[in-house]
Amino acid sequence: AHNFSAGPAMLPLAVLERARDELLDWGGSGMSVMEVSHRGKAFVAAAEATQAALRALMGIPEEYAVLFLQGGAMGEFAAIPMNLTAPGDSIDFLLTGDWGVKAAAEAEKYAGVRVVADESADHFVRAPREGSFTVSPDAAYLHYTPNETIRGVEFGYVPDAGPVPLVADMSSTILSRPVDVSRFGVIYAGAQKNMGPSGLVVVVVRRDLLGRARPQTPTVWDFTVQAGADSMVNTPPTFGIYLLGLVLDWITDQGGLLGMAERNRAKADALYGFIDASGFYSNPVDRDARSWMNVPFLLADPSLDATFVARAADAGLTNLAGHRSVGGMRASIYNAMPLEGVRALVDFMAEFERTHG
Ligand code: PLP
Repeated sequence: AHNFSAGPAMLPLAVLERARDELLDWGGSGMSVMEVSHRGKAFVAAAEATQAALRALMGIPEEYAVLFLQGGAMGEFAAIPMNLTAPGDSIDFLLTGDWGVKAAAEAEKYAGVRVVADESADHFVRAPREGSFTVSPDAAYLHYTPNETIRGVEFGYVPDAGPVPLVADMSSTILSRPVDVSRFGVIYAGAQKNMGPSGLVVVVVRRDLLGRARPQTPTVWDFTVQAGADSMVNTPPTFGIYLLGLVLDWITDQGGLLGMAERNRAKADALYGFIDASGFYSNPVDRDARSWMNVPFLLADPSLDATFVARAADAGLTNLAGHRSVGGMRASIYNAMPLEGVRALVDFMAEFERTHG
């Protein structure tokens, strides 16, 4: 079966097979990785190796701390303003979809929010043009969502925030292609799309932004405390960290982030190319803002939506219904989805159009 879920999403088969083989006896310990102490030598070494692999793949400079936390990306919607703002500060937001809107609503509990670009008027079908918005020089940071998972809108560029720290929710695009980490103040991402199981959230934070947490910040979410404790101020999500390590090994074997980018571009081209050539399916997003990871599409006749989803599932193509808030269809084609999965979907769509169109 090919699983097109937006998250938790499919993992590479080779990763799942290795996890299965190691499940009852991890590294000769005679135990599962879930049963060993997070402070034991073996697990500490595994967590360090995972961090080193992430640094190597993403090219994360030394002046950034890498944190393995809990609370999901949504937890970070609160943790980031707690760590980066003082009462009375203001944060700039670029809104290109539902997750950015949620992040702004959460941030508003802690600081002022200024929306400097808002693409909601046309139901979020584009990213703002590069250079079309002005970042407030006194903003604590500029927040944006490089890939909006629900409506499939992805920035084709990294916004220029000047001296203002740039904060990015990369939950649904991290590790899908190379990024220049030095452009960012904070990168954060829930693991359950391109990195592993839910329960782990990765935060990459420039060290000069540490040391500013509000006194009320929960200790487990205090970036400075966690950076000083190798993310082990309490029990970290050990299985998630272990599995991320396996995923990173797999990505390295596939040619790193350049290899991922090539594979992801080919998948996206195949699916958008088919949709654009068809009179039966459509994608509403501007061509230069189309997501490589989440491809929403509409059927010309929405009364066929339920039939489409059911027939697709019969054909082994699962979780194609669009987000409950927007309807239609959505194919999430994260790193783990092979090109054959996208080809199988395109073949199914062509056949469905022939028989129902
Ligand atoms: N941000 C983006 C872009 C997402 O896609 C999601 C979940 O799908 C979230 C945030 C929320 O993540 P979590 O469920 O880990 O809190």
